[in-house]
Amino acid sequence: MGIKLCSLSSGSSGNCVFVGNEDCGLLVDCGISGKEILANLNNIGVCSNAIKAVLVTHEHSDHIRSVGIISRKLGIPIYANTNTWNNMEDLIGTVKTENIRFFAVGEELEVGGIGIKSYSTPHDAADPVGFCFFYGNRKISIATDLGYFSETVKKNTSGSDMVMLESNHDIEMLKVGRYPYFLKRRILSESGHLSNEAAGNAVYELLQTGVREVLLAHLSKENNFPELAYETVKEILGKNNVKVDRDIRLDLAPRNSFSRYYHIE
Ligand SMILES: [Zn+2]
Ligand SMILES: [Zn+2]
Repeated sequence: MGIKLCSLSSGSSGNCVFVGNEDCGLLVDCGISGKEILANLNNIGVCSNAIKAVLVTHEHSDHIRSVGIISRKLGIPIYANTNTWNNMEDLIGTVKTENIRFFAVGEELEVGGIGIKSYSTPHDAADPVGFCFFYGNRKISIATDLGYFSETVKKNTSGSDMVMLESNHDIEMLKVGRYPYFLKRRILSESGHLSNEAAGNAVYELLQTGVREVLLAHLSKENNFPELAYETVKEILGKNNVKVDRDIRLDLAPRNSFSRYYHIE
């Protein structure tokens, strides 16, 4: 049966990822409307009854927009750490007490036979995390909203069968773009977002740990182009004698629709 992953939407206007299989589906973040999430699940052939829980990485609006709506509509629990809960509970409407689930960062959870482990990410939210998922001897990881590719992120994502990694912006586009100075500084800081260049270096590091499949995600609309993200990462790998498609598979998560549907058997 294996484990599957599909990004239903990715970027600063909304993030949502499906992870799971026929027995159990999980949503990581619900940053687009509930309607869009349900429509995209339907598009990839996943029945909404299969969704057993929502996991929240952090409280930024592009990650929590319909967290409460999805919990109420599907009657499923929301998992978040305490700091994230405290910072999002006023924004998501009423959630049934039994559907409020806390986890400690690094604690190992299990939902519907899927192992889940969170890890800290460098980002300007209350207590942001990324997630790793385990099924049989398979592992997939999600690492977006990263100011830099920290040792903690590397340690937790290393050896994954597949990694969904942020490739947020082109540094030059951001610098000359129309964003206000404070926002540029925020994005470029160590608690902001990962540039294409930093993503390229991170992919190379991940490759050394056995990763052969990467989905580039959370691309900025203002400060990036899909081709540019892809080519920048490819070029950095090329400088290190790594060939895309021969040594590693690289893909992009679209902003407004679903990505490639990964089946990790
Ligand atoms: Zn985000
Ligand atoms: Zn964020």
